[in-house]
Amino acid sequence: MKIHKELFVGGEFVKSHDGRTFQDVNPANEELICDVALASIVDVNEAVDSSEAAQREWAALDPSRRGQIVMAMADAIEANGDELANIDCLDGGRPLPDCQEDIHAAAKMFRYFGGLADKAFGQTIPVQNDKLCYTKREPYGVIAAITAWNYPLFNASAKVAPIIAMGNSCILKPAEETPLTALRLAEILQDIDGVPPGLISVVTGPGEETGEALTRHERIRKVSFTGSTDTGRQILIATAQSNLKGAVLELGGKGPFLIFDDADLEMALNAITFSVFYNQGQTCTAGTRLIVPKMIIDQVINGLRDRISRIEVGDPRDESTVVGPLISKTQFDKVCGYISDARSDGYTPIIGQGKVEGFASGFYVEPTVFLDLPQGYKLCTDEVFGPILVVNTFETDDEAIRIANSSNYGLAASIWTASSKRLVNAVDRIDSGIVWCNTTFAEHPGAPAGGFNQSGFGREYGTSAIDEYTRLKTIWIDKSGEFFSWP
Ligand code: NDP
Repeated sequence: MKIHKELFVGGEFVKSHDGRTFQDVNPANEELICDVALASIVDVNEAVDSSEAAQREWAALDPSRRGQIVMAMADAIEANGDELANIDCLDGGRPLPDCQEDIHAAAKMFRYFGGLADKAFGQTIPVQNDKLCYTKREPYGVIAAITAWNYPLFNASAKVAPIIAMGNSCILKPAEETPLTALRLAEILQDIDGVPPGLISVVTGPGEETGEALTRHERIRKVSFTGSTDTGRQILIATAQSNLKGAVLELGGKGPFLIFDDADLEMALNAITFSVFYNQGQTCTAGTRLIVPKMIIDQVINGLRDRISRIEVGDPRDESTVVGPLISKTQFDKVCGYISDARSDGYTPIIGQGKVEGFASGFYVEPTVFLDLPQGYKLCTDEVFGPILVVNTFETDDEAIRIANSSNYGLAASIWTASSKRLVNAVDRIDSGIVWCNTTFAEHPGAPAGGFNQSGFGREYGTSAIDEYTRLKTIWIDKSGEFFSWP
């Protein structure tokens, strides 16, 4: 396993100019993995210089050739899959089988967007007969991608693949907690024939410094961001105060998971258990608010208790582990803080108790469930990003929808019912960018994904990526050979 701890700029690893570093810690045992280079504005400027040069070369290729190279990246990811999965597991504390699944998901991104590289069509517009008017799609130039730590390889791939497929170059800033996968990924992709040095750069460091240097940079033309709503706001301020670059914001969520009384309850309970506890509950689209009919609440709680009792919390490298550690001490304290605050406020979890006892080190929290907290209480409104489920009950369909929509977020919802009428009505009324019906966590590079309300804006996947990562140019050509005299 190759661990890189320097910046990846101009197609090679380089030290930061001022020699500063930050610590990268293993969340499973709290040991230092390594000190990683911290990129300042000087390093970011250099990355932009080489990224601009690479982009000119890259955009000059035929789109189909570009697509071919992007598709070759998918093969390279699969060929190095074991190594990338092991780095993800070490750095992010995710169970190894989960990291292995992400190899295929990441490769699929590169394959899909490689195929889209020569399909960024313009239009011919029917205008006055003496003119020809058409539009064409052009790359922005250098685009910054800033990602969260929860799926290091997947988050990086979901940004890099569409950004470069559309003819841009990409400067990636992974989260401080998980810098290692992006660094190795960039090296693997650089080795592919036809990739200009600097097409994909990786600058590591804290958001307030390295991230801001990107979002405020005058020569970076767009920012694609995945992270919290608060940081999304900071990014919009930075882009507004600099060169008014555009932004795609994939932000937080507090997903409603709505089970009606006619649903297949066993299947729905399997799905909610997976949705809320997979990846230690650190998924923006997780169903963290379960909304169920009052009359079946006992069945629901028993079903959850049974499923949760089979979840093994432990070291992410152990084969039996289903749920690993949270990403960091900060996240661990935040999640445990919500649980202890709830206890102080008189709300005791009905399943689980938060921190797992028995580990000498590491950030382990067990699946924890609260029942019927008052709407508006912070566990019902805040995105906790940990293995905590809040269960609410309802008596009428209207009440169910009202509870589901009582959030400032609007990323992903899940609805379970056997009735097509109920399903279609609920889909229409749910205020959410993604709605899963009798399923959860379905995704595909071709299916647009993104949020409503404070879950952000912009759509990254599918042909929406063409809109997000290219600029539309309108061209007028005179056919008449005449121009009126004025004045
Ligand atoms: P943060 O918003 O704290 O960080 C995300 C990224 O932004 C990190 O790389 C971070 O750097 C960087 N960053 C922080 N501050 C700034 C800044 N001022 N300017 C530029 N960049 C900055 O989120 P978390 O890492 O805590 O991730 C969890 C959050 O991400 C959750 O709210 C979750 O819902 C959301 N998320 C959303 C997804 C979606 O698709 N909608 C998917 C995954 C997560 P650093 O960490 O190094 O400081």
